[in-house]
Amino acid sequence: MGHYKRSGIDCGAFTIFLKQQFSNPDMGINRYKQILHVDMDAFFVSIEESLNPSLRGKPVIVGGDPDGRGVVSSASYEAREFGIRSGMALSRAKKLCPQAIFLQGDFERYGIVSRKIFKILSKYTPDIEMASIDEAYLDLTGFGRLYGHTFGAAQRIKEKVKSRLRLNASIGIGANKLIAKVASACAKPNGILMVFPGYEKSFLSSLSVERLPGVGKSLKEKLISFGVRTIGMLASVEKDLLVRTFGKWGLILHYKANGIDCSAVGGRYSGPKSISRETTFDEDTIDRRLIFSTLFTLVEKTAKSLREGKLQARTIALKLRYSDFSTVTRSKTLREGTDLDKKIYQCVEELFQKAWTRRGRIRLVGVCLSNLCASAWQVNFLDGGNIGKLKSFYQSVDRVRDRYGFDSLRIVKSVPDFWA
Ligand SMILES: [Mg+2]
Repeated sequence: MGHYKRSGIDCGAFTIFLKQQFSNPDMGINRYKQILHVDMDAFFVSIEESLNPSLRGKPVIVGGDPDGRGVVSSASYEAREFGIRSGMALSRAKKLCPQAIFLQGDFERYGIVSRKIFKILSKYTPDIEMASIDEAYLDLTGFGRLYGHTFGAAQRIKEKVKSRLRLNASIGIGANKLIAKVASACAKPNGILMVFPGYEKSFLSSLSVERLPGVGKSLKEKLISFGVRTIGMLASVEKDLLVRTFGKWGLILHYKANGIDCSAVGGRYSGPKSISRETTFDEDTIDRRLIFSTLFTLVEKTAKSLREGKLQARTIALKLRYSDFSTVTRSKTLREGTDLDKKIYQCVEELFQKAWTRRGRIRLVGVCLSNLCASAWQVNFLDGGNIGKLKSFYQSVDRVRDRYGFDSLRIVKSVPDFWA
């Protein structure tokens, strides 16, 4: 019971679960996955509200001109009370709530905030999947010793997001992604809902079928026409009947309704495909000092972006354009990903040696990092040697530059030997 008090949760299901755990050690929570679904509340609107607090408490809609042909991207909870939902035509939203404040939206800014969210969340686990601009799955399985009870970890994550970004998130916790996602939707706004292992079916059973991800309006209507309103009713329909009626989708429906989902967190990487920077010289040049310092700066900038996104790159490419506009690219794929300037620059130097065959004047140079993956989080703990030192060196450089601007700090790079 000590555990129960410390976690501060008063929940019937929790006590039942603990009894089972103690009577049968095999029922321990470690047997189950601990998946979090973190979903921001009214994301775009909340960002607008944090920029302009006078919008708070009002019906606000991000999407654009209400007389145009666009749709609602995001609506405040006040606007939702008028029946406004994302995806609805703006003209319809205006009819439902003429006094609503319609905003164009700043999607570049939303993207920046999204990357900040990813950065905060990725401090908790390497197994993270940004499912969209404002939601992520985190796999916290096996982190019990580090974070204590998952519910407490979720509370801390929520507080961190709130204190750093002044935005509310709702979090669902479950033994798989499906349960975590449905739970976060039920926790909205600004809540946390944890479904204990073994309670998936009973949690879902009374919910309306449209709560299942993937069940849209037309499927919902079809199910209702068969007399199936709740997920529990859907779960009790025979599997074969569902397959006969809906084909392959019927089987998926059957599993979902029964709370079964085997997909892994991080199955898809949905971030940028590559990070690249290039510079056109003011005048075409063969000044080796200028060329290499430019390449070095390009490497520094791309590597910084990598680290900001908690990413590593495996493929490094160099682009060279001669004064006659002929363009050469050379690339190299490493065995393991890296986010270190030094490693990337070594490759770029090698590639330059291969690419600059004509020895003519150069108009443009570029660096492109691709084959991106989430950064190998444990490297800090494992190697402890040179790479660890380099990593912390670049992290301090990043911190200075974040604070005082990129040019506040210069790392001097000498011209490579083969040029001498
Ligand atoms: Mg959301």
